[in-house]
Order: sequence, then structure tokens, then C-alpha cells
Amino acid sequence: MSANKSLLILPGDGIGPEVMDEVRRVIDWFDRGRAVKFDIEDGLVGGIAIDEEGAPISDATMDKAKASDAVLFGAVGGPKWDGLPFEMKAERGLLRLRKDMDLFANLRPALCFEALADASSLKRELVAGLDIMILRELTGGVYFGEPRGVEDLPDGTKRAVDTQVYTTPEIERIARVGFEMAQKRRGIVHSAEKSNVMHTGVLWREVVQRVHDEEYPDVELHHILADNCSMQLVRTPKQFDVIVTDNLFGDMLSDVAAMLTGSLGMLPSASLGAPDPATGKRYALYEPVHGSAPDITGQGIANPCASLLSFAMALRYSYDMGDEADLLEKAVSNVLEGGMRTADIMQDGKARVSTSVMGDTLLRELDKLNG
Ligand code: NAD
Repeated sequence: MSANKSLLILPGDGIGPEVMDEVRRVIDWFDRGRAVKFDIEDGLVGGIAIDEEGAPISDATMDKAKASDAVLFGAVGGPKWDGLPFEMKAERGLLRLRKDMDLFANLRPALCFEALADASSLKRELVAGLDIMILRELTGGVYFGEPRGVEDLPDGTKRAVDTQVYTTPEIERIARVGFEMAQKRRGIVHSAEKSNVMHTGVLWREVVQRVHDEEYPDVELHHILADNCSMQLVRTPKQFDVIVTDNLFGDMLSDVAAMLTGSLGMLPSASLGAPDPATGKRYALYEPVHGSAPDITGQGIANPCASLLSFAMALRYSYDMGDEADLLEKAVSNVLEGGMRTADIMQDGKARVSTSVMGDTLLRELDKLNG
């Protein structure tokens, strides 16, 4: 059996394949520059999978995803597939990956590179060097709770219901991911809920506190109401290290945090499953936060950084290669410091470059950093 690290790349649609090409070049560089070998497989997902295989993701691709150490996902969707019925939508490919691999922990780092601090809507001193991790519970809560639906009432009006529901094990497992992440970072967790008005918030708070006291007393834990957390994120974001929260609040808070950092083209993410008790292996999917950007597809101007930084997360969380992840993140930071900008992050006085020139510059930077 190969000792190499396995990786399934699903470029998807639109700019997905364009940005993934730059990741492949970096993977080749790691092979040459650091003798790190990956066994790479490719698969189809989204619109292209519908066209060529008849479904947004085939069973065979799902099997490959489960067999890989990690999945790197580009983006899916586009106008060509917009009119398809719900079950055939391109986005169903991503939803099936998340569901079938039970990817309950969604990691959304909000990293503000010094060079891009002026692109934030907040003052430079509030965001320069920002490094927060928003950890969102992804498979439970109000987006999945039953009962849900819309019913007709006798008086001709309607009634809509969504149910916010969490169980002790669901909260325990996301809390553990949060504490373990904090142990590798600055050691602080903020747990955000609405225990003042929601029963799920009361349980969330109790369980997070117990998991902390019993298993992670070394981590500094703060409980914060989710609405206050959103205010604090735009007031003094650097007070946070890891924020752990539920599916609904995480949806909002991760987008607030994302905007502190400037552009969609810079934002990576990871979604992790539970570790297998026997092997320790966990399912993992890494993807840029942005979509398939049909408005710029084929122009060679997409920003590859979100995908490159997603690969850096894979190095850190799936392959336990923290040094290589640091190296890649540092190279991205240096390229930005050097004044290279794709169109989405362009600033006065900087050099506007294409996707592939950004990639070329990054490879040179990796060479330099690698000595
Ligand atoms: P989008 O993220 O694709 O694009 C929003 C805007 O940001 C566009 O102007 C786009 O050009 C720009 N942009 C996004 N990524 C960029 C990058 N890397 N470099 C430079 N500019 C970038 O969101 P949208 O326009 O709302 O959706 C387009 C399609 O993508 C839709 O079909 C949508 O369903 C799909 N989508 C997919 C995902 C996913 O695959 N995870 C996520 C969001 C949207």
C-alpha cells in the first residue's frame, strides 16, 4: 500500500478548475521542493458532473471521497444549471459530500493579511494581522430540525415552522473540536449562543462548560451571547481566537468575520467529520468560500488565494503538516506584500496580475522561503 498522502480534487464548475490548476502547481512544488508526495485523484462535481455523469455527484466519486485523506473542492453551479429541479441542482453535489461524510465541523478562518488591511471596511489598526477561527456546527440546528414546513391555516393565512434542536452529543463533539483547535492556537474559546432566550442556548452553554471543565481546563473559555458576539466582531475583533457556535449563528458570524478581511477571493474553509476511534482518520473537505463566479469564468483573472489557503488548511488538519501549511501561508502573504493583486483585491499603486501570474509569483516565493 502506498504511504503517500491521498487527495481527491473536485474542481467543479466556473472558476473552480482555474483556481485548482494553481493548487496543483503548488502540490507539484511540494513534491519537488519538500519531497512530499500526494496520490492525487480527480473527480467531477456540480454542473459538469450532471452533464457527464447524470448526477451532481456520482456514487463512484462519493466512494473516492470517502477513501481519500482529504477532498479539495473548487466551486459548483452556474446559469446553465440554474433551472434544474431541486434534487438535480449543482449544489446538491456539495450537500451530499457534507451529509454522507457527516462533516459537522465547519472551520472558517478570518485572516487579515497586513497587505490587505486597507481593503477592510474597518480601520486598519483593528484588522491588520487579524487571525480568528469561526467554528460552526454544520449538520444540526434549525436548518435540519423537525418539524419544519409551511401550513395553511383555516383563516386563509399560513404558518411557517423551523425547529432549532441540539442534543448533548452534537454539542460535545463540536466543543471538543473548538477546544483542541484553541490548544494549537492562542488557547481562547468564545462559545456563542442565546441562552438568555433559547432552550438550545441553555443546553449549549451547560455542555460546553462541562466539556471544558472535564477535558480542557487549560483553555480559557468565555460564554458570549451571539448578538453581542456580532457586535464585538466589528468593534474589537482581535479579542477573539476561536469562536464556537451553532449552525444558524455560525452562518451569520462567519460572514461578518469574513468581511473584516476584505475579499471573497481570499477566504478558505474546511469541513471535518468525527475522528474514527480506531484509526484517528477523519473525513475532511476543503474549499474556498466563494462560488463559481460565472461573471469572470474563462478570463484568467480569478484569485487563486482562497483555494491555495484551503490547501494550506488541508496540510494542517488532514496531513499534520503544520510547517508546510505555515510556509504556504507565508508565501501567500509575501506575494501580497510584494504588491501582486488579482482584480478583486486590486489597490492603487499595485500590480494587477492574472491567476497564473499570481501562481508563478507564489512558486518563486516558495523557492525563496525554502532556501
Ligand atoms: P460567487 O462567489 O461565485 O461570486 C460573487 C462575486 O465575487 C462575483 O462578482 C465574482 O466574480 C467574485 N468572486 C468570487 N470568487 C472570486 C475569486 N476567486 N476571484 C475573483 N473574484 C471572485 O457568488 P455568486 O455570484 O452568488 O454565485 C455564482 C454561482 O456560484 C451560483 O451558481 C451559486 O449557486 C454558486 N455558488 C457556489 C458555491 C460553492 O460551490 N461552494 C458557493 C457560493 C455560490
